[in-house]
Amino acid sequence: MLVSAVKALPRKKINTNEELRKKILYIWTNNPNISYKKLAKLTGSTYDTARRTVLRIKKGGSVKDKPRSGRPNGSADAQLEKKVIAIIRKNRSMSTRDIAIRAKTTHVQVTRIKKRNGIKTYKKKKVPKRSEKQTSKSVSLARKLYETPLANKNFCVIMDDETYLKMDLRTLPGNQFYCLESGEDISDSEKTIQIEKFGKKVLIWQAICECGHKSTPFFTMGTINTEIYVKECLQKRLLPFLRHHNGQIMFWPDLAPAHYANITQKWFEDNNVHYVRKDLNSPNVPELQPIERYWALMKAKLLKMGKPTKTISEIKRMWRTASLKVSPEKFGRMDSNE
Ligand SMILES: [Zn+2]
Repeated sequence: MLVSAVKALPRKKINTNEELRKKILYIWTNNPNISYKKLAKLTGSTYDTARRTVLRIKKGGSVKDKPRSGRPNGSADAQLEKKVIAIIRKNRSMSTRDIAIRAKTTHVQVTRIKKRNGIKTYKKKKVPKRSEKQTSKSVSLARKLYETPLANKNFCVIMDDETYLKMDLRTLPGNQFYCLESGEDISDSEKTIQIEKFGKKVLIWQAICECGHKSTPFFTMGTINTEIYVKECLQKRLLPFLRHHNGQIMFWPDLAPAHYANITQKWFEDNNVHYVRKDLNSPNVPELQPIERYWALMKAKLLKMGKPTKTISEIKRMWRTASLKVSPEKFGRMDSNE
């Protein structure tokens, strides 16, 4: 009976596990007392496979292959992929979720397709709004600035700027995230950043230079007027920083009024400091200014340290710690970018 049962099976080469299991099932149902060893021999499989299959059938399991995990790479997928890419090309600002809705798929699929095709998402850069005319004026001024004295390799370009820093480092700009497992929840205070509208701020002045050095920073809870700028920033901090350079320097001040006041210009002349003339200095081009990038890098570091600070000395300490990890970028690639 057993032999005839085996002979009754289609004489087809077994090439899938599913077919093998069907054969085992066929023989076993005809002879439930068969040993695993014999079953293995008759089906051309192994003892383990025969045993596992029988146990699986006994438990009520199917002999069919389990559905494959992951995504089959069929033609439907190729079509979806094409569709997703077309949607992205048409609208570069569309969110992954919106693309998924448009393509009638999931955002996970869209993410996979993006990854497979080397499509990355970037955060938009915030820049001041300005007219096209203004832009070309700024850029050409910046270019001029680079082509003339600064193109001379003997100069080290030094620039300074002021920036405000919120005392509560958790409220610095930048995206913050949190992760949750399904069904899990956390308190609102862990999910939100509370921003005190008039939270205490500290004003920081610092100079950086082309060769990657930084001056001692100046911190104040007040403002920096011309008098303070000359005394605290230029005399006490910029001058030692300039002297640190053996070769020639070119100072590129920020366009803040205090930086071009008469007293300030007199200070430059008295101290023999080469500086960029006001009419050559470019207005409103922060993304051209390496110091803007330096501020951004510093603030990103401080945001990571993210904690509320109470005193100016605490802020100073944090600033110094962050400063050790951030070095001003080289200025050189500025003109090639624009
Ligand atoms: Zn330098």
